[in-house]
Amino acid sequence: MKKKFSLALAAMMLAGVLTACGGNGGGNAATGSNPSSGSGAASSAASGSETPTIDAIKAKGEIVMLTNAQFPPFEYLGDDGSVQGVDPDIAQAVADKIGVELKIVDMDFDGIIDALKAGKGDFAAAGMTITEERLKEVDFSDEYVTSSQMVVVPAGSDLKADDAMLSGKNITVQEGTTGDWYASGDTETTGSEIKDAQVLRYKSAVEAGMMLAQGKADAMIVDQKPAEAIVAAQGGKLVLLPEKLTDEHYAFAIQKGQEDLQAVINEVLKEYNGEKVDELITQHMGIE
Ligand code: GLN
Repeated sequence: MKKKFSLALAAMMLAGVLTACGGNGGGNAATGSNPSSGSGAASSAASGSETPTIDAIKAKGEIVMLTNAQFPPFEYLGDDGSVQGVDPDIAQAVADKIGVELKIVDMDFDGIIDALKAGKGDFAAAGMTITEERLKEVDFSDEYVTSSQMVVVPAGSDLKADDAMLSGKNITVQEGTTGDWYASGDTETTGSEIKDAQVLRYKSAVEAGMMLAQGKADAMIVDQKPAEAIVAAQGGKLVLLPEKLTDEHYAFAIQKGQEDLQAVINEVLKEYNGEKVDELITQHMGIE
């Protein structure tokens, strides 16, 4: 039996360290100086406010969420073209708590972290897995969903979710995701032992699923709930294999050092813990 690799374990330990160092306890609010806050909300920070990021968001009147809306049930385009899903619902609760409008920017998943760092959004909510690599670039909220990479195959395939069997195969993935890293045999970050697969990278998980359904590959590696949604949408052409390749945890990403925004997101996520998130997932899985 293959041991599952936990992407999140190392990452969460690191996150714990960062939280411990970055919390209010060690800060010096009286001077208003925070040598680590290089980017973002600089103007409010100069005023000595303890909630500089939130103040800046209130002044704008809107909070901007970055996502890739091809990842059902977490985000997808509704019939009216608006972005819907579990993440927009939780994001709306964050906006309501702050008292501003929610604006959603739909973009390629692999551009989200750079866009966030460049200030093109206030946070990312994109079914994003906490990883050590990403923690070097951004901070994460508390986790709100547990997931795994899964293998999807065309109906009738005898392929198994086994790294040795997947080696050398054509595998579709969404570019820049943990599924991409797994298919690419990135042992250090994902524990994958796949060797020499032909990795076919698409800009969205839905597209990677469509290409598999059209017979362009042997398998797809993708997150669990999106795998279920994509298989359901392809009407019997695809099958989800039951084995889990990884253990992962989703969180919202924010620019480094914005503890005030992180705290508000965590407060909202606490309300959405467990059952409420499961309800949202079920509600947004309704794909015919
Ligand atoms: N959870 C995966 C990751 O973070 C995929 C996310 C996505 O495709 N939206 O890499």
